Amino acid sequence: MHSFDSVISRLRSNGFKLTPQRLAIIKYMENNKTHPHALKIHKELKKKYPTLSFSTVYNTLNMLESIGEITSVNIFDEYLNFDPETKPHIHFYCKVCGEVTDIFLEDVDGLSLPIDEINGNLIDSAQIVFKGICKKCRGREQQ
Ligand SMILES: [Zn+2]
Ligand SMILES: [Zn+2]
Repeated sequence: MHSFDSVISRLRSNGFKLTPQRLAIIKYMENNKTHPHALKIHKELKKKYPTLSFSTVYNTLNMLESIGEITSVNIFDEYLNFDPETKPHIHFYCKVCGEVTDIFLEDVDGLSLPIDEINGNLIDSAQIVFKGICKKCRGREQQ
C-alpha cells in the first residue's frame, strides 16, 4: 500500500467518494502488519464511529483491493484477512497465539516469487502459509 495521502489522491482521481468513515478504514490499514479481517476492523473502528456499518468496511476493503493497494489473504476458512503489504511474501501462522506475520522471500533460500510457469501451467499469484510456533511463543515455552 502506498502512503495514506497518495492512496487518497488516487481514489479521488478515480471518482471514489471519501467519507470520514472510509478515510478511517484506509488509515487503519496503512502500515498494518496484523492482517486484520473485516469483522475485527469493524469492531475496532465502531468505537470511534458508532454508525459505521459492516458493509462500509467490506466495500472499502474491496475498493482498496480493486486498485491494488491491499491484498486479501485466505488463511482461514471462515474469513479473509487483509494486508497492505502487496509485494509477494509468505505468511506464517502461529498455532499458539494465532498471530499471522510476514516472511519475506529474502529470508527463504532458493525460493523466488512470482513463479511464471510450472508443468505448463501459467501462474499469476501464489499464497503460501507456513504454520508452526512463532519466535515469541517459543521464547515463552522455554522459560
Ligand atoms: Zn505465537
Ligand atoms: Zn502479509
